Amino acid sequence: MSWEMVIGLETHVELNTESKVFCSCRAEFGAEPNTHVCPVCMGLPGALPVFNEQVLHHAAKAGFALNCNGHHRSRFDRKNYFYPDLPKAYQISQFYKPICENGWLSVQTSAGEKKIGITRIHIEEDAGKLLHDDQNETLLDMNRCGVPLIEIVSEPDIRSAEEAVAYLRKVRAILTYIGVSDCRMNEGSLRCDVNLSIHKPDEPFGVRTEMKNLNSFQSVERAIRAEYERQASALENGEEIVQETRRYDQKTGKTSSMRRKENSSDYRYFPDPDLPEVRLTDEQMESIKAEIPVLPDARREAYMKDYGLTAYAAEQLTSERWLADYFEQAAGMAKSAVSVANLLQGEVFAIISAKASEAEKNGTAAPEGEASLPVSPENLGKLSDLLSDGRVNSSTGKKILAAMFKDDCDPVEYAQQNALFAVSDDAVLMEIVQTILKQNPAMVVSYRKGKLTVERALMGKAMAAMKGKADPKRLSELLHQALEALER
Ligand SMILES: [Zn+2]
Repeated sequence: MSWEMVIGLETHVELNTESKVFCSCRAEFGAEPNTHVCPVCMGLPGALPVFNEQVLHHAAKAGFALNCNGHHRSRFDRKNYFYPDLPKAYQISQFYKPICENGWLSVQTSAGEKKIGITRIHIEEDAGKLLHDDQNETLLDMNRCGVPLIEIVSEPDIRSAEEAVAYLRKVRAILTYIGVSDCRMNEGSLRCDVNLSIHKPDEPFGVRTEMKNLNSFQSVERAIRAEYERQASALENGEEIVQETRRYDQKTGKTSSMRRKENSSDYRYFPDPDLPEVRLTDEQMESIKAEIPVLPDARREAYMKDYGLTAYAAEQLTSERWLADYFEQAAGMAKSAVSVANLLQGEVFAIISAKASEAEKNGTAAPEGEASLPVSPENLGKLSDLLSDGRVNSSTGKKILAAMFKDDCDPVEYAQQNALFAVSDDAVLMEIVQTILKQNPAMVVSYRKGKLTVERALMGKAMAAMKGKADPKRLSELLHQALEALER
C-alpha cells in the first residue's frame, strides 16, 4: 500500500486597510523603508495599541465568505518570542478566542469537487521585514510591523499538491472578490505554511513537519512533492520523522531542517492586557454579510448554465474577480461567449505567462492582475468575432492579439491596414481549388481510387497557395465539393 499525504495549510493574508491594525500608520506596500512607523508599531515602552475597526470588518467578511461562524466576542493574546523583526518581542494575535471558526470551501480538481474544512480564522499583526544585502549585512524595514493579517487555518483535509494549490487559488479568489486583500503572493500579501505528514490509509496520521512562508503556487506544489518524497523514503529506510520546521529551497528543490517545531506552550500565550475584548453585534454581522457579492462558485455555475462553458473553463475564468468581470464584458459584446473564453484561456493566457516568465528571467516584475491584460474587453470581443466568423484564422489572430497587447488597437482596423483578412470570396477560393487539383493530378487519381486521406494534403497545398489567408472552413468545403464532384 502506498503512502498517503495529509496536509493542513495555514494561510496568512494581509488585509488592505488604510492604516495598521493597532496604530494610525499607513499600511500600504512598497513605501521607503521605515517611513510608516510610530512608537506603537516600533514597540516603544509605554505606547498603547488601539484596535482598527476596519480590520474587524474585513476579517469578519472573510470569515463569512468562507462559511465560518463569527463570534460575538473575540480577544487578543500575546504570542511571545524573540526575533529581530519583532520589536515588542511578542506578536498580538488571537489564540484563545479567534473571531471566526468552523468554515469550509470547495475546490475542483481532476478528481471532481471536494470540500475542505476551515478550522479557524484569527486576526494578528504582521512582523517587520529583514533585508539581507550583498555586503552580508542585514537591514530592518519596520513598515510592515503592525500591518493587519488574518490567518486562515485549514483542517488536515488536503490529500495532494493539486488540492493544496486549488485550495489556495480558491482562498485568493474569494478574498479578492470580497475586496479585503489584493492577495499578491509576490508582494507577500498572501503566504502559506504547509503542514504535511504521511501515513498508510488504514493507520493513524504520521508525525508532521511544517514548511513556512511559501510565496508562490509553484513553490507550494514543489515543496509538497519534495517533502512527501523525503518522508516516504525516510520511513521506508526505518528512520523516524521528527516534528520540526523545514525550509524549502527553490534552487535545489529540497527541504532542509531549520529548527525543532515549537508547541503552543513555548509561546506563553496570555490575554493582552492593553486591548479590550472585541465585540461584534448581530446587526454588524448582518450588514457585513449583506455586502458579500456573488462569489466564484456561484459565478462558475452561472457560466456553465448561461454561456455553455465547461466546468474547467468556468473555474479558470472565475478564479479572479477582475478576470470574471472582464470576461463578462467581452462576452457581452461578442457573438460567442465560448469563443471569448477560448481566446482568453488560450492565446491571452499564453501571452501573459510568457511575459511573466520573461520578467522572471530578467529579474523584473511583470504586471499582475488587471494590469497584465492591457486590451479592452470591447477589442477582445471584436477579435473573438473575427475568429469565430472565420474572417481571420488562428495564426493571424495571434499576430493581431500581439499588436493589441502593445497599444490596445482595434483588431478590425489593424487587420484592414495590414491586409490580414482571410479570403472567403467563393470565386477566389474556387479558382485556387481548381489550380491545386490541376497541379496535382496524381493525388487526384488516388482520391478517385478511394484514398480519401489525400484531401488533407490538398487542403494544405491550397492554404499554402493562399499564404494562409483563406477562410479555412469555406476553403475546405469548396475543396471537398470539388473532389466529390469528380467521378470515381
Ligand atoms: Zn505605527
